[in-house]
Amino acid sequence: MLLPEWYVVLAAGLLGAALGSFLNVCVYRWPAEQSVVSPRSRCGACGTTIAWYDNIPVLSWILLRARCRHCGNPISIQYPLVELAVAAIWGLAVWQLGPGAEALRLASFLTILLGIALTDAREMVIPDQFTVPGTALGLLLASIPGGLPFRSALIGAAVGYALLWGVKLAAEKALRKPALGVGDIHMMALVGAFTGPIGVLLTLMLGSALGLVLGVPVMWLRGRLLPMQSYLPLGLFLALGGAVTILWGPSIIDWYLRTVL
Ligand SMILES: [Zn+2]
Repeated sequence: MLLPEWYVVLAAGLLGAALGSFLNVCVYRWPAEQSVVSPRSRCGACGTTIAWYDNIPVLSWILLRARCRHCGNPISIQYPLVELAVAAIWGLAVWQLGPGAEALRLASFLTILLGIALTDAREMVIPDQFTVPGTALGLLLASIPGGLPFRSALIGAAVGYALLWGVKLAAEKALRKPALGVGDIHMMALVGAFTGPIGVLLTLMLGSALGLVLGVPVMWLRGRLLPMQSYLPLGLFLALGGAVTILWGPSIIDWYLRTVL
């Protein structure tokens, strides 16, 4: 396949930056049950509505030297970092796959996973606003021929949903206390809609392994930065597992079948 022209990649990157800017709004407002449409973006410290020229992804943060124009309070570096990350996701997806349905599928899945990872790490919630429309989007994109077959996406979503309900019921029976949120269950339906039933299993395995290896350091860090939380942000690790699965899943399964079996 011919690599796309540079301006196509640039356009995808700029679209990604704008989506990243919107993702920032979702990450802050959805856990607080606020609308992402109105009111317009405001400074978290003084409440002044942010003008369009102070709301340009990455650029405004640099030009304003990370401070609000009105009150001078600092603006978190999370804003430009998320914008840069989503710009990179969309630019790289189009560069590698060309401007088509597969790039759209990869980039939108990774963008939603980033949003979930952030809300779960910050607030310990996985908003339905990410997972429910996200699952529908995954099924819709799978109905376009050339990528994951629609049947795999549908079975994947069902397996992700049912499997996590099973894990929840089993864990609650064993631990005799609530385990796994509904958010995690909806999230695995989303993962299934984008990666199919094998992708669900791989994501679960990778997510649990990463949770075991990285979970203790992450909880320790959270205890230092935020009030101590005794829960592991499982969604964060499932998001990492899902990203690895859609990027390298087929190679990992291939390697597994050849070397382990
Ligand atoms: Zn301000």
